[in-house]
Amino acid sequence: MAVDLHLHSTASDGTDAPADVVRLGAAAGLSTIALTDHDTLDGIAEARAAAERHGIGLIPGTELSVVWPDGTMHLLVYHLEPGPGPLQEKLASLRTGRSVRNAAILARLTELGVPVSATAVAEEAGGGVVGRPHIAAVLVADGHVATIAAAFDRYLARGRPAYIERVRLEAVAAIELARASGAVPVLAHPHTIGVATAEYETAFRHLAAAGLAGIEAFYSEYPVALREHLAAVCDRLGLVATGGSDYHGRYKPDIHVGVGRGDLSVPDDVVERIAAARSG
Ligand code: AMP
Ligand code: ZN
Ligand code: FE
Ligand code: FE
Repeated sequence: MAVDLHLHSTASDGTDAPADVVRLGAAAGLSTIALTDHDTLDGIAEARAAAERHGIGLIPGTELSVVWPDGTMHLLVYHLEPGPGPLQEKLASLRTGRSVRNAAILARLTELGVPVSATAVAEEAGGGVVGRPHIAAVLVADGHVATIAAAFDRYLARGRPAYIERVRLEAVAAIELARASGAVPVLAHPHTIGVATAEYETAFRHLAAAGLAGIEAFYSEYPVALREHLAAVCDRLGLVATGGSDYHGRYKPDIHVGVGRGDLSVPDDVVERIAAARSG
């Protein structure tokens, strides 16, 4: 059977409630899913209850943005349990840093002549962690841009006029905090780290030495050849080749649970290997 270990819900910047994400995973015939909302574990309890009802496995997780010199690095942290713990406690300050950043983005958008109301953004987020996709959705609703992707291209992406940095952990510190919290850190969508394909092995070796357990080799947006290349690098380095769709509901309308753009299939032995990495 297949699994999907990268899914977002209304607890952050997905548009489906955690229970609905689980339901979609079960409907897609998946044996296990991981809920990986940005900087929060708030969706886990609801997802877990739904997973029990549907008879599907649920790995509690989160997705972090970390500091990396050349690009954007995201870490998926698996088996991070809600409750006390070193990384769990850090998530609260990361969310505060987000609020500060979001206010600065709105101020910048006003300067740029496309004011967006904080109330509308909060309503769009529906009580979950607020991210740029919510701001993008309001820009679309207000008629300033045609699509979420256009909102990023024109205003919100790194290097665009309303891009503002936010507080992030250092990559190695995040990996160590995840390990100290009994969790399993994995590098998400490695293409965003700004390293050439030929240099992946060197970069991954450095992160593996710090405690990284795996690489998201099976990613929706990758051609099959790149997925296989990444999986082979993982094999050589003793890393787990993991995978997922990065489903965000309406915010990424071409990405579907379990299958990504249609051709994704993440093997279920990944689940055991991630569990084994908890103690390793
Ligand atoms: P934030 O966590 O607020 O920094 O927003 C990051 C999220 O925005 C990512 O997880 C994606 O869901 C989305 N995102 C980032 N870049 C783009 C882009 N160029 N186009 C569409 N969505 C994007
Ligand atoms: Zn997201
Ligand atoms: Fe990401
Ligand atoms: Fe994601």
